[in-house]
Parts: sequence; structure tokens; C-alpha cells
Amino acid sequence: MNKKIYQGHYVRKRFGQNFLTDSLIINKIISIISPKLNEEIIEIGPGLGALTNQICLYIKHMTVIEIDHDLVIRLKKYSPYKDKLIIYHQDVMTINFFNLFIKKDKMLRIFGSLPYNIAIPLILKLFTYNKIIYDMHFVLQKEIINRLVAQPHNKNYGRLSIIAQYYYKIIPVLKILPTSFTPIPKVDSGLVKFVKYDKMPNFVNNFDILNLVIINAFNQRRKIICNSLSNLFTAKQLTNLGIDISSRAENISISQYCKLANWLSDHSTLLKKKEYYD
Ligand code: SAM
Repeated sequence: MNKKIYQGHYVRKRFGQNFLTDSLIINKIISIISPKLNEEIIEIGPGLGALTNQICLYIKHMTVIEIDHDLVIRLKKYSPYKDKLIIYHQDVMTINFFNLFIKKDKMLRIFGSLPYNIAIPLILKLFTYNKIIYDMHFVLQKEIINRLVAQPHNKNYGRLSIIAQYYYKIIPVLKILPTSFTPIPKVDSGLVKFVKYDKMPNFVNNFDILNLVIINAFNQRRKIICNSLSNLFTAKQLTNLGIDISSRAENISISQYCKLANWLSDHSTLLKKKEYYD
């Protein structure tokens, strides 16, 4: 097998291990995150510590979550900042972030250069903790960033754009070329910032219902909306709610989806039937 070794570590492709090696980019990321002494900072996937070591210069302690046993051993034994690290050797998908919200007066600041294979499910999971998260900074594949920031009438606009923008202001802040990593990935990346709104621009009474509406709408993205949502709304109801029934899922704004969801949660007893969620 053709195994790659970097800094004495066997690189594990299955964990999305592309390590940041460009010091200019690393410094830019740190200055954008701008860590402060007593903040509750959590890094997902510290790897060989490219970002961790720099952050540690500014803070008293931080939490890191790493799945790779070899990397955890290295962090525990050899990190120059090991006394500052609270290390979880765990799959981040199994972490209950409420347990990390120990000091109730301090919202969490989460960052990481995310393994591409879990980036989307992880971001969706983190949105469910939005009440305890102050902000997030992630290095992500360009294609995922395009989906996060997409606006209506764009082919990248979909469930991820709507849920992300419902919860956070999404700001792409830095472009990162493949050559900034080792091994070099095939795709371009970027740093994106998730910032809490002062006042949320949209609000739904029941988020599960918003999710239900957008899953139905985008499952059949090419269909006109009165067909893709026909199990939830009649054409007349859609028209009364200001929706052009001949439009498609990607033409409907977040505030319109929220309006549909709120109407449904106010009116439909049918939703209690489980099959609508299947
Ligand atoms: N932060 C380092 C850097 O920038 O050089 C490493 C980033 S690398 C893209 C992704 C890191 O996430 C790796 O250290 C990998 O082992 C870790 N990782 C992958 N899947 C994970 C998971 N499910 N839970 C926690 N860590 C994971």
C-alpha cells in the first residue's frame, strides 16, 4: 500500500487528513478567529496542531476533539501546549456539546479545518446547538461554501443554504489553495465564518416543520412547487401564502419557506401523522 507519511505520522485518508502547512494562511486564520484569553474555544480535528499551537499562544485552555488515536497520543505526549489542552479522543459526531458548555456564562467558539467527509452532517448537527454557540470558523471545501452562502435562483441553493442562513450570517473570509495543505487535496478550500445574528431575520415556531417543508421541496428539485409540496399544501393554500405555484424549490426565499412552515404548524393536525416525516 502506498502510505503517505507527514511529520512521522501515517496520513489517514479516511479521516480526511490534509494538514495545513502554509504558515501565512495559518496566521491569517488565527487572526480572523482572534482568540481571547478566557474564551471557551473548541477545535474539531486538531491533527498535528497547526492551528492548535497558534491558538494556544492566546488562551488559558482549549478543548480539542480528535478521532485518530496516533494523533491523540502525540498531542498528549508531545504538544508544547499539552497542559492547556482538554483532549477528547472521540468521533465529533458523538459529542454532546451541551456537556462542553460548562461555564454557563461563556458561549462556545468552535473552529476547525474540517474533514471533508463529515463536514456537512457535522455542521447540521452543530446548528442544533446554536443556543450555546457564539460563533464558528471552518476551513471547508469551496463547493460546500458555495452551497452555504447560495441565494435563491442559484443552482447551489438548497436545504443546507436555508438551514445555515436561518441560524447564522455566513461570511466567506479567506480563499485557500490546495498547495496550502499536505497532502495536497484535489479541491480548492476556504475559511468561512458563522456569526450569530443580533436579531434573527426569520423565525419558525417549529424547526422540524421547516425541515420537513424544505426536504419535500428539494427532494424533487426540478418539479414545480405545487407538485413537490402537494402532500403538505393545496395549490390554493400555496397561492394564498404568496407562492407562485409554478416556481421551483430553488426560487423560494428563506422567509417564504418560514412562512409556509409557520402556517403549517398553526393549521395542520395532519402533521401528527408520522408518515409525513418519513
Ligand atoms: N487541524 C489540522 C490542520 O489544520 O492541519 C488537521 C485538519 S485535517 C483536515 C482533519 C482532522 O480531523 C484530522 O486530524 C482528522 O484525524 C480529524 N478527524 C477526522 N474525522 C474526525 C471525526 N469524526 N471526529 C474528530 N476528528 C476527526
